Amino acid sequence: MALSGLDIYKRLPKTNCRKCGFPTCLAFAMQLAKKAVALDKCPEITDEGKAALEASAQPPIKLITIGEGDKKLEIGNENVLFRHEEKFFHPTGVGIILQDSLSDEDITDRLAVINKLHFERIGQEISINLVAVKQTSDSAKFAAAVKKISEATPLGLVLISNDAQSIKAAAAPIAKKRPLIYAADSKNYKEFAALAKELSIPLVAKDADLEKLAELTKSINSEGVDSLILDTAEKPLNKKIWDLTQIRRLALKKNYRPLGYPTLTIIKNNDTYEQVIEACIYILKYTGIVLLEGFDPYQILPVLTLRQNIYTDPQKPLQVEPKAYPIGQVTSDSPVLITTNFSLSFYTVLGELEASKVPAYLVSVDTEGMSVLTAWAAEKFTSDKISESLNKFEIPKKVSHNNIIIPGYVAVMSGDLEEKSGRKVIVGPREAAGIPSFLRNLNS
Ligand code: SF4
Repeated sequence: MALSGLDIYKRLPKTNCRKCGFPTCLAFAMQLAKKAVALDKCPEITDEGKAALEASAQPPIKLITIGEGDKKLEIGNENVLFRHEEKFFHPTGVGIILQDSLSDEDITDRLAVINKLHFERIGQEISINLVAVKQTSDSAKFAAAVKKISEATPLGLVLISNDAQSIKAAAAPIAKKRPLIYAADSKNYKEFAALAKELSIPLVAKDADLEKLAELTKSINSEGVDSLILDTAEKPLNKKIWDLTQIRRLALKKNYRPLGYPTLTIIKNNDTYEQVIEACIYILKYTGIVLLEGFDPYQILPVLTLRQNIYTDPQKPLQVEPKAYPIGQVTSDSPVLITTNFSLSFYTVLGELEASKVPAYLVSVDTEGMSVLTAWAAEKFTSDKISESLNKFEIPKKVSHNNIIIPGYVAVMSGDLEEKSGRKVIVGPREAAGIPSFLRNLNS
């Protein structure tokens, strides 16, 4: 069970010396209970106190790293069961499974598509993280496929085989890239643990039964390996959701160390659409990694989009920088459109503006990330604020006319805005989809 702030406080020196950067030991204890600071920030703690608090100082779900460089994937180290309690920190790794039986040509062709599976959405780049290589051939072919794939992609690798010797032959030459090896079970765990330890790479522990899985992680820990990811094997969707939820609950609510690791889920479904649905469900239900065979952009984009939404901070709407954005080849005659700095509003308007092919200035007003109507209701999208933004972003210097276009939903502010800004206010369409025809009519 996780210790409370007061439990932790009892084990601190209680001298309020401030060396940890906090004014009191109690303040430090409260932060430690929230896992917001590390125990080693207190240089005064006794060895006994340190030992007693060590379990509490560790994250309830261990942080595991796969891959290297800027493409490395970090998963785990989550603090909450529900996103609204705080936020989820380390987005689920999404990976594509390739079989080693593919020809060299097929591997090359598929990797050409897989390496391009990154998209820009509301100003952020979203992309897949892993390529999993599954052994269906002999050891030599498996190692050759792993080598070829490793050389052809910067993404992290997962090596899937029941045979520790085959995994060793494939993993040893690329150990520096920190591949994940899959999977140790109750029969082969000693071999897999020895390999993970020797190569310093993470390992998947697999058992369909949660109690046995906990026993397995303890056994692997006793072999000196603690960089683990959990899999509860292939089972129906509802049972898998149950497992993922129980593992998360036990780790977070009970601080149950044997299951305090991120999870991995492999999707086995021949229906290309159901693969996507399953992947999305497992992301929602906490899986740390999801692997699927489908790799067409139409399958991957919805999965990455859902992940992006789940792993944003629910208390901080996605925002763009407030400024005047020139869209297309603007001139001093170009229209000036006003919107908020809420990413979804901004990029929706931007898309329609680009589609209209009418060069224009798009002024993003700082509404603290609120959408048009919400910001207007909260008095963050006011005549004063819009007027200030127009001057701050030097609209008078950029255009020679005196017109501004506001969203149709806030037509009610027209009179006040005209008074405050000294500009002619034109009420634009309510929905962004109406922008192209609106601008074309404006110019005709
Ligand atoms: S450094 Fe340790 S003893 Fe000093 S105030 Fe912080 S928690 Fe207390």
